[in-house]
Amino acid sequence: MTTILIVEDEETVLETLAYNLRQEGYKVLTAEDGEQAIEIIRRKKPDLVVLDIMLPRLDGLAVCRIVRKDPQVASTPIIMLTARGTQSDKMIGLDSGADDYVTKPFELGEFLARVRAVLRRAPGRAVTSQVLTGGDITVDLAARRAYRGKQELQLSQKEFDLLAELMRNQGAVLSRDLILTRVWGYDYYGDSRTVDVHIRWLREKIEDDPSHPTHIITVRGVGYRFEG
Ligand code: CA
Repeated sequence: MTTILIVEDEETVLETLAYNLRQEGYKVLTAEDGEQAIEIIRRKKPDLVVLDIMLPRLDGLAVCRIVRKDPQVASTPIIMLTARGTQSDKMIGLDSGADDYVTKPFELGEFLARVRAVLRRAPGRAVTSQVLTGGDITVDLAARRAYRGKQELQLSQKEFDLLAELMRNQGAVLSRDLILTRVWGYDYYGDSRTVDVHIRWLREKIEDDPSHPTHIITVRGVGYRFEG
């Protein structure tokens, strides 16, 4: 199983990332400061480290440099997180040896795509290929492609993330608020009509008759449910 260590002292960010990576099928370890991170990296040798720059004790840049100098763990892929977004910070992040760099606030879909991309590039690492199926709909999470029968669906990034989230929870009702949090992210300040609009677009692409859907079912007063 692919193991990912998340290093972040902000609890809400840590929990959201951990939750979503677990949903993707990864084993998740967490650390809340730089020293703890180094210890876990040496002991558990995770397949990927998601490392916030701003950390107590030892910041992310220092952690990254220490890891790169330790032959036992030097090739560990690292994705750096930071709230700052200037070009020079990006240079600092990549100079310190990070494989990729994500600026907060970020979209979960984009973050997960970066995780997959970095894992794919990592030499000698297992690639988690996850395919979800429900009826005639297939979603390839690793390739970020969706199909109806053999026909590839042309979905926007959000439509893809929404379909994947519904299909991961087949048969279960997801409330609009839950969908907003999971697909749009914890820092998204939209309202739940955003979900309805994207559901409508998705139905037009995957249903025989969008006004009588058989895949994405409306559960009145609650939310939506995917049926295969
Ligand atoms: Ca932080």
